[in-house]
Formats: sequence, structure tokens, C-alpha cells
Amino acid sequence: MAVIKVHDKSFETYLPEDQIQQRIKELATAINTDYAGKRPLFIAILNGSFMFAADLFKHVNIDAELCFIKLASYKGMKSSGNVVTSIGLEDDLFGKDVVIVEDIVDTGKTLHNFLPKLMHQQPKSLKIASLLHKSEATEYPLTIDYVGFDIPNKFVVGYGLDYDGLGRNLKEIYQLI
Ligand code: 5GP
Repeated sequence: MAVIKVHDKSFETYLPEDQIQQRIKELATAINTDYAGKRPLFIAILNGSFMFAADLFKHVNIDAELCFIKLASYKGMKSSGNVVTSIGLEDDLFGKDVVIVEDIVDTGKTLHNFLPKLMHQQPKSLKIASLLHKSEATEYPLTIDYVGFDIPNKFVVGYGLDYDGLGRNLKEIYQLI
């Protein structure tokens, strides 16, 4: 098990690269089945989900669209949860099958605040795919249709997720020691 340092904190390997990639293939297989004959629009939430969205999308073998949007910021190691704004949502979602792509759902507040904005545009359907879910931390219950890994309520970095800007480039996911 590798121990790494990001800024002042030590982290240990929690999910190795092959396990992440294997699980993403499984999620894509489920999505390919569920959306066969449809043309879903994946809306990936920046910054954290860029790696997951790219790897997931490579395994989607049906017609599908992808866009990236930016929501609230996440400072330090505590979720602020305040969705300030959404930048980049130019698509008209009316009548579309939308799949939100998130890196992690923690308290659920971010999506809880953002989903009504999307629903306002009357998509045909709306599902959520999140690589990680801290179900123990739930404060705003949400149905997450595609969950990669349910993880304990501990801070993680890597595979797109940062700690104060660093760690996004790690291929594995690391947990705070
Ligand atoms: P929520 O609104 O569900 O509480 O938090 C969602 C956001 O908080 C995620 O999109 C992510 O930016 C951030 N977040 C929550 N837990 C962690 C974590 O363990 N590590 C990192 N890097 N970000 C997290």
C-alpha cells in the first residue's frame, strides 16, 4: 500500500487503478443496456469528474452526447455545499435523457440544490452516475442510479479529486490517513 503526501497531509491507496477501471466498465455496460435506442446527454460536473467522465464515455457504445458544466467550489477538506452558479449549460434539456456525471456525492447538497434547475428544463429523464458515494454522510437523500463505490466518510483524493488543487492527476484514489 502506497503512502503519498499531498500538501501537508498523508494519504494511503484506497482504490487501485485496475479496480476503478473495472468498475467503470461495469457502469458503462449498465448504461449501454439501459439507454439502448436512446441518445443520452451526459452532463459531467467539473472539475472533479473530468477523468471519470472521460473513462466512462470511452466505454459507452451507444449514441450519446457529453458536455461539461461547472458548479460550486469545494474549499479545503470540508464540503461547502453551496451551489453558487452553473457555467456552461447551454444545451436545451427539453425531452432529453440526461445522465449527470459526478465524481463524488458526499452530503448530497450540491446535487440537491442543482437538480431543480435541471428539472426546470423538463428533460425526459434524469439519472445520476457517481463514481463515489459517501452514503454515511448523506444529509440530502438522492437516488444515485449508477454508483461506482460506496466509500466511508473519509476524505479522498486522486482520479480527478483534489485536495486544495493538488492530487487530481493521480490514477488511483487515496484516503486520508
Ligand atoms: P456534497 O454536496 O454531496 O456534500 O459534496 C459534493 C462535492 O464535495 C463533490 O463534488 C466534491 O467536489 C466534494 N467532496 C466531497 N467529499 C470529498 C472528498 O472526500 N474528497 C474531495 N476531493 N472532494 C470531496
